[in-house]
Amino acid sequence: MKWSGWSLHLGRVAGIDLYMHATFPLLFVWVGFLYWVQTGTLGGVLFGLAFIAVLFFCVVLHEYGHALTARRYGIGTRYITLLPIGGLAALERMPKDPRQEIIVALMGPAVNIAIAFGLFVLLSLTGNWAPMDPEAPLMMPANFLQSVLFANIFLAVFNMIPAFPMDGGRVLRAALTFRMGRDSATTLAARIGQTLAIGFGILGLFGNPFLILIAVFIWIGAASEAGATLLETQLRNKPVARAMITDFHTLAPNAPLSHAVDVTLAGKQTDFPVLDGNRVVGVAHQTSILRGLRDYGLDGQVADIMTEAVTADRRDDLATLLEALQQDPESRLVCIMDRGALVGVIDMENISEYLRIQSALHER
Ligand SMILES: [Zn+2]
Repeated sequence: MKWSGWSLHLGRVAGIDLYMHATFPLLFVWVGFLYWVQTGTLGGVLFGLAFIAVLFFCVVLHEYGHALTARRYGIGTRYITLLPIGGLAALERMPKDPRQEIIVALMGPAVNIAIAFGLFVLLSLTGNWAPMDPEAPLMMPANFLQSVLFANIFLAVFNMIPAFPMDGGRVLRAALTFRMGRDSATTLAARIGQTLAIGFGILGLFGNPFLILIAVFIWIGAASEAGATLLETQLRNKPVARAMITDFHTLAPNAPLSHAVDVTLAGKQTDFPVLDGNRVVGVAHQTSILRGLRDYGLDGQVADIMTEAVTADRRDDLATLLEALQQDPESRLVCIMDRGALVGVIDMENISEYLRIQSALHER
Protein backbone atom coordinates (compact mmCIF):
# COMPACT_ATOMS: atom_id res chain seq x y z
CA MET A 1 0.00 0.00 0.00
CA LYS A 2 1.30 3.38 -1.00
CA TRP A 3 0.30 6.96 -0.18
CA SER A 4 -0.37 9.40 -2.98
CA GLY A 5 -0.86 12.83 -1.41
CA TRP A 6 -3.72 12.48 1.07
CA SER A 7 -4.92 9.19 -0.36
CA LEU A 8 -3.91 5.63 0.39
CA HIS A 9 -3.73 3.24 -2.58
CA LEU A 10 -5.85 0.19 -1.68
CA GLY A 11 -5.38 -1.74 -4.89
CA ARG A 12 -6.33 -2.05 -8.50
CA VAL A 13 -9.69 -3.60 -9.41
CA ALA A 14 -10.89 -4.04 -13.01
CA GLY A 15 -7.94 -1.91 -14.15
CA ILE A 16 -8.92 1.06 -11.96
CA ASP A 17 -6.87 2.26 -8.98
CA LEU A 18 -8.85 2.39 -5.76
CA TYR A 19 -7.86 4.97 -3.14
CA MET A 20 -9.02 5.82 0.36
CA HIS A 21 -8.76 9.43 1.52
CA ALA A 22 -6.91 9.99 4.80
CA THR A 23 -10.08 11.46 6.36
CA PHE A 24 -12.15 8.36 5.53
CA PRO A 25 -11.42 6.46 8.81
CA LEU A 26 -12.85 9.47 10.69
CA LEU A 27 -16.26 8.34 9.47
CA PHE A 28 -15.79 5.04 11.34
CA VAL A 29 -14.80 6.90 14.50
CA TRP A 30 -17.92 9.06 14.17
CA VAL A 31 -20.26 6.13 13.47
CA GLY A 32 -18.74 4.09 16.30
CA PHE A 33 -19.31 7.03 18.64
CA LEU A 34 -22.95 7.46 17.49
CA TYR A 35 -23.76 3.79 18.10
CA TRP A 36 -22.02 3.88 21.48
CA VAL A 37 -24.21 6.83 22.51
CA GLN A 38 -27.35 5.08 21.22
CA THR A 39 -26.75 1.53 22.43
CA GLY A 40 -24.04 1.76 25.07
CA THR A 41 -22.90 -1.75 24.13
CA LEU A 42 -19.84 -3.08 22.30
CA GLY A 43 -22.20 -5.17 20.15
CA GLY A 44 -24.00 -1.99 19.08
CA VAL A 45 -20.73 -0.32 18.14
CA LEU A 46 -19.58 -3.39 16.15
CA PHE A 47 -22.92 -3.43 14.33
CA GLY A 48 -22.48 0.24 13.39
CA LEU A 49 -18.95 -0.34 12.08
CA ALA A 50 -19.92 -3.47 10.12
CA PHE A 51 -22.93 -1.64 8.71
CA ILE A 52 -20.90 1.34 7.49
CA ALA A 53 -18.24 -0.99 6.01
CA VAL A 54 -20.87 -2.90 4.03
CA LEU A 55 -22.48 0.39 2.99
CA PHE A 56 -19.21 1.69 1.62
CA PHE A 57 -18.68 -1.55 -0.23
CA CYS A 58 -22.01 -0.73 -1.94
CA VAL A 59 -20.72 2.80 -2.62
CA VAL A 60 -17.65 1.34 -4.34
CA LEU A 61 -19.91 -0.87 -6.48
CA HIS A 62 -21.95 2.25 -7.33
CA GLU A 63 -18.78 4.02 -8.55
CA TYR A 64 -17.78 0.96 -10.59
CA GLY A 65 -21.26 1.15 -12.13
CA HIS A 66 -20.33 4.57 -13.53
CA ALA A 67 -16.75 3.65 -14.43
CA LEU A 68 -17.48 0.40 -16.26
CA THR A 69 -20.40 1.95 -18.18
CA ALA A 70 -18.15 4.86 -19.23
CA ARG A 71 -15.55 2.32 -20.39
CA ARG A 72 -18.11 0.90 -22.85
CA TYR A 73 -18.11 4.36 -24.47
CA GLY A 74 -14.31 4.42 -24.63
CA ILE A 75 -13.87 6.65 -21.56
CA GLY A 76 -11.33 5.57 -18.96
CA THR A 77 -11.39 6.23 -15.22
CA ARG A 78 -8.23 7.58 -13.61
CA TYR A 79 -9.10 6.41 -10.10
CA ILE A 80 -11.89 5.87 -7.58
CA THR A 81 -11.47 7.54 -4.18
CA LEU A 82 -13.41 6.86 -0.99
CA LEU A 83 -14.25 10.04 0.92
CA PRO A 84 -16.20 10.24 4.21
CA ILE A 85 -19.10 11.77 2.24
CA GLY A 86 -19.14 9.08 -0.45
CA GLY A 87 -17.24 7.76 -3.43
CA LEU A 88 -15.76 9.63 -6.36
CA ALA A 89 -14.99 8.09 -9.74
CA ALA A 90 -12.62 10.39 -11.64
CA LEU A 91 -13.66 9.76 -15.23
CA GLU A 92 -11.24 11.08 -17.84
CA ARG A 93 -14.13 13.11 -19.22
CA MET A 94 -17.91 13.04 -19.36
CA PRO A 95 -19.49 11.73 -22.57
CA LYS A 96 -20.40 14.60 -24.87
CA ASP A 97 -23.41 12.68 -26.20
CA PRO A 98 -26.25 13.47 -23.75
CA ARG A 99 -27.76 10.00 -24.24
CA GLN A 100 -24.50 8.38 -23.09
CA GLU A 101 -24.16 10.87 -20.24
CA ILE A 102 -27.61 9.91 -18.94
CA ILE A 103 -26.78 6.18 -19.07
CA VAL A 104 -23.39 6.63 -17.33
CA ALA A 105 -25.01 8.77 -14.61
CA LEU A 106 -27.92 6.35 -14.07
CA MET A 107 -25.76 3.22 -13.80
CA GLY A 108 -24.49 4.26 -10.35
CA PRO A 109 -27.89 4.49 -8.63
CA ALA A 110 -29.01 1.47 -10.70
CA VAL A 111 -26.38 -0.63 -8.88
CA ASN A 112 -27.88 0.38 -5.50
CA ILE A 113 -31.39 -0.43 -6.71
CA ALA A 114 -30.14 -3.82 -7.91
CA ILE A 115 -28.53 -4.54 -4.50
CA ALA A 116 -31.72 -3.47 -2.70
CA PHE A 117 -33.80 -5.68 -4.98
CA GLY A 118 -31.45 -8.64 -4.41
CA LEU A 119 -31.73 -8.22 -0.63
CA PHE A 120 -35.51 -7.89 -0.93
CA VAL A 121 -35.71 -11.21 -2.76
CA LEU A 122 -33.32 -12.85 -0.28
CA LEU A 123 -35.26 -11.60 2.76
CA SER A 124 -38.59 -12.61 1.23
CA LEU A 125 -37.34 -16.13 0.38
CA THR A 126 -35.85 -16.69 3.82
CA GLY A 127 -38.70 -14.96 5.62
CA ASN A 128 -36.16 -13.09 7.72
CA TRP A 129 -37.97 -9.76 7.75
CA ALA A 130 -37.63 -8.13 11.13
CA PRO A 131 -40.93 -6.72 12.35
CA MET A 132 -41.26 -3.04 11.49
CA ASP A 133 -41.62 -1.68 14.99
CA PRO A 134 -41.95 2.11 14.71
CA GLU A 135 -40.44 2.44 18.19
CA ALA A 136 -37.26 0.51 17.39
CA PRO A 137 -34.57 2.33 15.38
CA LEU A 138 -34.18 1.01 11.84
CA MET A 139 -30.40 0.74 11.82
CA MET A 140 -30.16 -1.82 14.62
CA PRO A 141 -28.55 -5.27 14.93
CA ALA A 142 -31.79 -7.23 14.49
CA ASN A 143 -32.20 -5.69 11.06
CA PHE A 144 -28.76 -5.93 9.46
CA LEU A 145 -29.73 -6.92 5.89
CA GLN A 146 -32.86 -4.81 6.11
CA SER A 147 -30.75 -1.82 7.13
CA VAL A 148 -28.44 -2.39 4.15
CA LEU A 149 -31.50 -2.67 1.88
CA PHE A 150 -32.98 0.63 3.04
CA ALA A 151 -29.60 2.36 2.97
CA ASN A 152 -29.18 1.35 -0.68
CA ILE A 153 -32.58 2.80 -1.54
CA PHE A 154 -31.54 5.97 0.28
CA LEU A 155 -28.25 6.08 -1.69
CA ALA A 156 -30.11 5.74 -5.00
CA VAL A 157 -32.65 8.45 -4.12
CA PHE A 158 -30.02 10.78 -2.63
CA ASN A 159 -27.84 10.49 -5.73
CA MET A 160 -30.79 11.31 -7.97
CA ILE A 161 -31.23 14.79 -6.41
CA PRO A 162 -31.15 16.91 -9.59
CA ALA A 163 -28.09 18.96 -8.63
CA PHE A 164 -24.34 18.76 -9.36
CA PRO A 165 -22.27 16.95 -8.21
CA MET A 166 -25.02 14.36 -7.72
CA ASP A 167 -25.80 11.91 -10.54
CA GLY A 168 -29.26 13.50 -10.84
CA GLY A 169 -27.57 16.80 -11.76
CA ARG A 170 -25.87 15.13 -14.74
CA VAL A 171 -29.12 13.50 -15.84
CA LEU A 172 -30.85 16.90 -15.63
CA ARG A 173 -28.09 18.63 -17.61
CA ALA A 174 -28.10 15.93 -20.29
CA ALA A 175 -31.91 16.06 -20.56
CA LEU A 176 -31.79 19.84 -20.94
CA THR A 177 -29.02 19.53 -23.56
CA PHE A 178 -31.54 17.99 -25.98
CA ARG A 179 -33.53 21.25 -25.91
CA MET A 180 -30.97 24.03 -25.53
CA GLY A 181 -27.36 22.94 -26.15
CA ARG A 182 -24.75 21.95 -23.57
CA ASP A 183 -23.66 25.40 -22.38
CA SER A 184 -27.12 26.79 -21.62
CA ALA A 185 -28.12 23.40 -20.18
CA THR A 186 -25.16 23.47 -17.76
CA THR A 187 -25.95 27.05 -16.71
CA LEU A 188 -29.61 26.23 -16.08
CA ALA A 189 -28.81 22.95 -14.30
CA ALA A 190 -26.29 24.77 -12.08
CA ARG A 191 -28.90 27.42 -11.25
CA ILE A 192 -31.50 24.76 -10.38
CA GLY A 193 -28.87 23.04 -8.20
CA GLN A 194 -28.05 26.24 -6.33
CA THR A 195 -31.74 26.97 -5.75
CA LEU A 196 -32.06 23.48 -4.26
CA ALA A 197 -28.96 24.13 -2.15
CA ILE A 198 -30.60 27.25 -0.67
CA GLY A 199 -33.72 25.19 0.06
CA PHE A 200 -31.69 22.46 1.81
CA GLY A 201 -29.79 25.12 3.73
CA ILE A 202 -33.00 26.71 5.06
CA LEU A 203 -34.45 23.28 5.94
CA GLY A 204 -31.18 22.47 7.68
CA LEU A 205 -31.37 25.58 9.84
CA PHE A 206 -34.70 24.43 11.24
CA GLY A 207 -34.13 20.69 11.24
CA ASN A 208 -31.31 18.30 10.52
CA PRO A 209 -27.94 20.14 10.41
CA PHE A 210 -26.70 17.41 8.04
CA LEU A 211 -28.77 19.18 5.35
CA ILE A 212 -26.58 22.29 5.68
CA LEU A 213 -23.54 20.17 4.83
CA ILE A 214 -25.35 18.80 1.76
CA ALA A 215 -26.34 22.35 0.78
CA VAL A 216 -22.70 23.52 0.85
CA PHE A 217 -21.64 20.42 -1.08
CA ILE A 218 -24.26 21.04 -3.81
CA TRP A 219 -23.48 24.77 -3.98
CA ILE A 220 -19.77 24.13 -4.61
CA GLY A 221 -20.55 21.33 -7.09
CA ALA A 222 -22.83 23.59 -9.14
CA ALA A 223 -20.30 26.42 -9.22
CA SER A 224 -17.40 24.24 -10.30
CA GLU A 225 -19.38 22.46 -13.02
CA ALA A 226 -20.56 25.79 -14.44
CA GLY A 227 -16.96 27.12 -14.30
CA ALA A 228 -15.52 24.10 -16.10
CA THR A 229 -18.08 24.37 -18.90
CA LEU A 230 -17.46 28.10 -19.30
CA LEU A 231 -13.73 27.43 -19.65
CA GLU A 232 -14.39 24.75 -22.24
CA THR A 233 -16.63 27.15 -24.23
CA GLN A 234 -13.92 29.80 -24.26
CA LEU A 235 -11.34 27.33 -25.57
CA ARG A 236 -13.47 25.47 -28.08
CA ASN A 237 -12.74 26.09 -31.79
CA LYS A 238 -9.61 28.05 -30.92
CA PRO A 239 -6.63 26.38 -32.65
CA VAL A 240 -3.65 25.73 -30.37
CA ALA A 241 -1.49 27.67 -32.83
CA ARG A 242 -3.06 30.86 -31.43
CA ALA A 243 -1.72 30.34 -27.91
CA MET A 244 1.51 28.37 -28.42
CA ILE A 245 5.04 29.65 -27.80
CA THR A 246 7.02 29.83 -31.01
CA ASP A 247 10.19 31.24 -29.48
CA PHE A 248 11.66 28.38 -27.45
CA HIS A 249 14.82 26.34 -26.86
CA THR A 250 15.29 22.65 -27.55
CA LEU A 251 17.89 20.17 -26.32
CA ALA A 252 19.70 17.36 -28.12
CA PRO A 253 19.49 13.87 -26.57
CA ASN A 254 23.29 13.60 -26.29
CA ALA A 255 23.72 17.06 -24.73
CA PRO A 256 25.16 17.02 -21.19
CA LEU A 257 22.93 18.13 -18.32
CA SER A 258 25.31 21.07 -17.80
CA HIS A 259 23.93 22.47 -21.07
CA ALA A 260 20.35 22.04 -19.81
CA VAL A 261 21.37 23.97 -16.67
CA ASP A 262 22.84 26.78 -18.79
CA VAL A 263 19.71 27.27 -20.92
CA THR A 264 17.47 27.02 -17.84
CA LEU A 265 19.42 29.76 -16.03
CA ALA A 266 19.73 31.97 -19.13
CA GLY A 267 15.99 32.28 -19.72
CA LYS A 268 12.52 31.66 -18.31
CA GLN A 269 11.91 28.31 -20.00
CA THR A 270 11.87 25.37 -17.57
CA ASP A 271 10.82 22.43 -19.78
CA PHE A 272 12.43 21.58 -23.12
CA PRO A 273 11.51 19.46 -26.15
CA VAL A 274 14.30 17.02 -27.00
CA LEU A 275 15.10 16.90 -30.72
CA ASP A 276 17.18 14.31 -32.55
CA GLY A 277 17.74 16.13 -35.84
CA ASN A 278 14.20 17.22 -36.68
CA ARG A 279 12.49 14.43 -34.78
CA VAL A 280 10.91 14.99 -31.35
CA VAL A 281 12.17 12.16 -29.15
CA GLY A 282 11.12 13.36 -25.69
CA VAL A 283 10.70 16.19 -23.23
CA ALA A 284 13.09 17.26 -20.46
CA HIS A 285 11.02 18.66 -17.59
CA GLN A 286 12.71 20.72 -14.91
CA THR A 287 11.83 18.11 -12.28
CA SER A 288 13.59 15.38 -14.33
CA ILE A 289 16.59 17.64 -14.97
CA LEU A 290 16.95 18.23 -11.22
CA ARG A 291 16.55 14.53 -10.48
CA GLY A 292 19.17 13.80 -13.20
CA LEU A 293 21.61 16.25 -11.60
CA ARG A 294 21.27 14.37 -8.30
CA ASP A 295 21.66 10.95 -9.94
CA TYR A 296 24.28 11.61 -12.65
CA GLY A 297 25.78 15.06 -11.97
CA LEU A 298 26.53 17.65 -14.66
CA ASP A 299 27.94 15.03 -17.06
CA GLY A 300 24.66 13.08 -17.28
CA GLN A 301 22.94 13.13 -20.66
CA VAL A 302 19.56 14.58 -21.58
CA ALA A 303 18.57 11.20 -23.07
CA ASP A 304 18.89 9.59 -19.61
CA ILE A 305 16.34 11.87 -17.97
CA MET A 306 13.85 12.78 -20.73
CA THR A 307 10.27 11.51 -20.63
CA GLU A 308 7.89 10.64 -23.44
CA ALA A 309 6.68 13.69 -25.38
CA VAL A 310 3.00 14.60 -25.54
CA THR A 311 2.18 16.08 -28.93
CA ALA A 312 -0.76 17.86 -30.54
CA ASP A 313 -1.41 19.13 -34.04
CA ARG A 314 -1.37 22.90 -34.57
CA ARG A 315 -4.95 22.67 -35.86
CA ASP A 316 -6.30 20.90 -32.72
CA ASP A 317 -8.46 23.09 -30.55
CA LEU A 318 -7.42 24.36 -27.13
CA ALA A 319 -10.34 22.62 -25.38
CA THR A 320 -9.04 19.21 -26.56
CA LEU A 321 -5.51 20.13 -25.53
CA LEU A 322 -6.65 21.18 -22.06
CA GLU A 323 -8.43 17.84 -21.69
CA ALA A 324 -5.21 16.01 -22.61
CA LEU A 325 -3.19 18.10 -20.16
CA GLN A 326 -5.65 17.42 -17.34
CA GLN A 327 -5.77 13.70 -18.08
CA ASP A 328 -2.06 13.31 -17.51
CA PRO A 329 -0.72 15.58 -14.78
CA GLU A 330 2.82 14.52 -15.76
CA SER A 331 2.55 16.15 -19.18
CA ARG A 332 3.17 19.78 -18.45
CA LEU A 333 4.65 20.69 -21.82
CA VAL A 334 2.92 19.75 -25.06
CA CYS A 335 4.85 19.79 -28.36
CA ILE A 336 2.85 21.30 -31.22
CA MET A 337 3.44 19.65 -34.58
CA ASP A 338 2.76 20.63 -38.15
CA ARG A 339 3.17 17.80 -40.66
CA GLY A 340 5.66 16.00 -38.45
CA ALA A 341 7.75 19.08 -37.65
CA LEU A 342 7.90 20.81 -34.27
CA VAL A 343 6.49 24.34 -34.61
CA GLY A 344 5.76 25.34 -31.00
CA VAL A 345 5.25 24.34 -27.38
CA ILE A 346 2.42 25.04 -24.95
CA ASP A 347 1.73 24.57 -21.22
CA MET A 348 -1.02 25.43 -18.73
CA GLU A 349 0.54 28.84 -18.11
CA ASN A 350 0.15 29.73 -21.84
CA ILE A 351 -3.47 28.68 -21.80
CA SER A 352 -4.29 30.85 -18.79
CA GLU A 353 -2.31 33.70 -20.34
CA TYR A 354 -4.40 33.31 -23.49
CA LEU A 355 -7.61 33.39 -21.41
CA ARG A 356 -6.50 36.55 -19.59
CA ILE A 357 -5.80 38.28 -22.93
CA GLN A 358 -9.15 37.16 -24.36
CA SER A 359 -11.10 38.45 -21.36
CA ALA A 360 -9.21 41.78 -21.40
CA LEU A 361 -10.17 42.17 -25.08
CA HIS A 362 -13.80 41.38 -24.27
CA GLU A 363 -13.97 44.03 -21.58
CA ARG A 364 -13.07 46.82 -24.00
ZN1 LIG B 1 -22.92 8.25 -8.66
